[in-house]
Amino acid sequence: MATLPLTRFQRLTEHFQQNDNLMPTLFIGHGSPMNGIEDNDFSRSWAALGKEIPQPNAVLCISAHWLTKGTSITAMPSPRTIHDFGGFPQALFDVQYPAPGQPELARQTAESIHHTPVQLDHEWGLDHGTWTVVRHMYPDADIPVLQLSIDYHQPPEWHYQLGQELAALRRKGVLIIGSGNMVHNLGRVAWDKLNEPEYGFDWALEMNTIFKDRILQEDHQALVRYPDLHKAAKLAIPTPDHYYPLLYALGTRLQGEEPRFFNDRAVGGSLTMTSVQFG
Ligand code: ZN
Repeated sequence: MATLPLTRFQRLTEHFQQNDNLMPTLFIGHGSPMNGIEDNDFSRSWAALGKEIPQPNAVLCISAHWLTKGTSITAMPSPRTIHDFGGFPQALFDVQYPAPGQPELARQTAESIHHTPVQLDHEWGLDHGTWTVVRHMYPDADIPVLQLSIDYHQPPEWHYQLGQELAALRRKGVLIIGSGNMVHNLGRVAWDKLNEPEYGFDWALEMNTIFKDRILQEDHQALVRYPDLHKAAKLAIPTPDHYYPLLYALGTRLQGEEPRFFNDRAVGGSLTMTSVQFG
């Protein structure tokens, strides 16, 4: 019987152990805060995803709704549920999502990032970009959830590079979620069409196709230079808050991972819920 040299065997074992812990990475189109309490196609897809992928040790979410100067990571043991919206039914304000934080993971993550100093935050919590999605994925609120803020003073390439550095967390069993919307123009929403299951303006559908094509082609640099993608990019991304979480998710993709798209549709004319999973 051929014997494998021990060192090679160890390397193989380590390889498998590492990949056992490897979590997928996600960009999720979160859309309306009402998805947090509605039973609809989107919330059902998030619930299914939570059951389908391996159970993470923790979730780290980069939400479109935490824009800062400098980068922070939530480091409190019990992050509060933030109701950062107005004009919605009381039932949405009544939601509490009491997932714990994980101060030790926050500290380790802050120390492991060289791209930029990361502050430990004790004030923020879980905003609706995070909890409206994660509460469907993990309804028991038994998995620690952390947020990393978006330094809104930095250029797109910078966010993509920070995402690349976060990729190492995937091997520690951390599920990274970028939560935003690829096409997000609130000024142009067709409010009377919001309840239609699928409704997109031509330019929104065109940009949706371009985003998916570039992701499929692994042309992340084109997505980083998004204003040059097409003349409609300005309409799809009037401000980059909901787009930057995609750049984080793309940064965490590992070589060879194919995208799986889901919730691939437009709502209200000027929003897309298109989401993507790698790994
Ligand atoms: Zn949002």
